[in-house]
Amino acid sequence: MKLTELFKTDTLSLSFEVFPPKTDTAFDSVKKATEEIAKLKPSFMSVTYGAGGGTSRYTLEIAKNIKSRYAVPTLAHLTCVSSTKETVLSKIEEMKAAGIENVMALRGDLTPELETSDRSGWCYHHAIDLIHDIKESGADFCIGGACYPEIHPESFDQKEDIKYLKEKVDAGCSFLTTQMFFDNNLLYNFLYKIREAGILVPIVPGVMPITNANQVDRAIKLSGSFMPQRFKSLVDKFGSSPDAMKQAGIAYATDQIIDLFANGIKNVHVYSMNKPDVAEKIQQNLSDILG
Ligand code: FAD
Repeated sequence: MKLTELFKTDTLSLSFEVFPPKTDTAFDSVKKATEEIAKLKPSFMSVTYGAGGGTSRYTLEIAKNIKSRYAVPTLAHLTCVSSTKETVLSKIEEMKAAGIENVMALRGDLTPELETSDRSGWCYHHAIDLIHDIKESGADFCIGGACYPEIHPESFDQKEDIKYLKEKVDAGCSFLTTQMFFDNNLLYNFLYKIREAGILVPIVPGVMPITNANQVDRAIKLSGSFMPQRFKSLVDKFGSSPDAMKQAGIAYATDQIIDLFANGIKNVHVYSMNKPDVAEKIQQNLSDILG
């Protein structure tokens, strides 16, 4: 199913994100975790491409497995930065052949090495370059893109970020998933601004349940997200007690999701990070709210 069909419905739903294994030996345990999450029957599952240390070559295999064995719609991520045209075009062909219907078109993060390297020979500088190639390939994918309620760390300001976001959407993005955020007001403010700028595609807010204190620094470093005092207090109080921190982090994410639903959002994407227990607990917490 193309996700554009899902976004037409009024049902409240959760989707979950998983990432491929970092090593070949971890494949079986990651596959098992993704299957446990698929059994929860989320509205869709996204499979990252090389993010969070996962290797990219298993993205398709995991996405295909979830779709064929559990009938859960999948969204396969694809990044392009510093890749050759040949590599990207062959990935697009592989996705077509695998029956993938939904693709998240991303630039990918600039590693310190990439940041200092000579970019003049690059075929892909931004996600929009990948979107153009997907469109030109004739692939009939529903294409998603990333967006940043607290602006992308490389952007000069929000105005510039939204200008490029609009170009990305006009190039062929049918929906956008947000970077994680911990203060819903930032999302509401962002929604107002992008709608005003004429970006009218569905927005899927991404919520990250922080279930251990070690995740906090990494999450902030990656996303540049603002940590509200309410969240900081929770980490200060419970961070040294793993079980308490997990419970508090799940409760915080649940609370964020309820507020998003109450304010008109239909599908929330949970950065479930290959943790079926966390995905399940959040789903249970919302059992009477979800359709
Ligand atoms: P872009 O849309 O290219 O934007 C990057 C920066 O360039 C922004 O500052 C933007 O304003 C600017 N820009 C955009 N277009 C132009 C233009 N034409 N000219 C000048 N400037 C421009 N990373 C992975 O490696 N694998 C994943 O699976 C993955 N999944 C993600 C999923 C989500 C929902 C999100 C939010 C991020 C994900 N990331 C992933 C991280 C992502 O790759 C990084 O955030 C990356 O730095 C930017 O990717 P992008 O597609 O948003 O880039």
